[in-house]
Amino acid sequence: MSSIKVADITKVYRKKPTPALNHLTLEIGNGMFGLLGKNGAGKSTLMKILTTLEQPTSGRAEICGIPLTQPGAIRNIIGYLPQNFAFYPNMKVTAALSYLATLANVPVREQRRRIEQLLDEVNLTAKANVKIQQLSGGMLQRLGIAQALINNPQLLIVDEPTAGLDPEERIRFRNLLTDFASSRTVLLSTHIVSDVEATTNRIGILEHGQLLFTGTTNELIDAATGHVFQALIPLEAAAQFKQTHQISEQVAQADQIRFRFIAGSSTRSPIAPTLEEAYLFLQAEQEGVLP
Ligand code: ADP
Repeated sequence: MSSIKVADITKVYRKKPTPALNHLTLEIGNGMFGLLGKNGAGKSTLMKILTTLEQPTSGRAEICGIPLTQPGAIRNIIGYLPQNFAFYPNMKVTAALSYLATLANVPVREQRRRIEQLLDEVNLTAKANVKIQQLSGGMLQRLGIAQALINNPQLLIVDEPTAGLDPEERIRFRNLLTDFASSRTVLLSTHIVSDVEATTNRIGILEHGQLLFTGTTNELIDAATGHVFQALIPLEAAAQFKQTHQISEQVAQADQIRFRFIAGSSTRSPIAPTLEEAYLFLQAEQEGVLP
């Protein structure tokens, strides 16, 4: 059974002429699903609808078989880490989690054990009695995951979770999500391609509230195969070359620059696309800006 079924959802915000989501249909199974898209593509809007914080203008969705029209039942089975997770800075970590556990209807007699277990899972046991304002960005994100898992959800929804994390924290955070996704579902949104590269096997690309692509990362790369090229250009011609090509990478080499670029076609031999290039290709193709 699909964990998430989205059927023809449109969301129009008041005073906005273009819809944030435009007849979106999508099915997500178990495991980790990465929702990729530029800022403003509609990722947060979709997540807010799935968490029942926003209502769609039209269309339907189900989470583990429960329709959006039963928000209480949905909130019982999902955990949500919003984009800018913040909590009372003066509260201590354990006190904050107790407070949230109470809000999430975790019975008082179970709270202590549950909080200890969560702090262990997100590797914050040593910070249990520290004030939230003393946590680093990465620790705060991990506390965010702990609070999202407090009701032992079937589905975890995380919105742009790695923004502002250093590389080590980013990897630690990814591993945490991967562990969770081994038995349940994680929906992760990001505009950073490398966030989905290592961990998710299925991705969806959202643009202007519509799904540009859904499939595996390998399928995305296949879709761009034959559209990424390489050229060695003398320094004096480099500026002109950059103006007329969609560059994905450039590396200076003595008196030349090695460019990788994306194009509909080229007289040069194609090279294997990276996931990032495949993503750029798909977007450029959609916008009709490919040379
Ligand atoms: P993303 O998460 O991909 O950056 P969002 O879902 O936040 O995208 O935004 C999609 C579009 O909806 C944007 O044009 C944004 O300005 C608009 N939008 C989002 N939230 C609101 C809101 N509360 N009121 C009006 N417009 C909004």
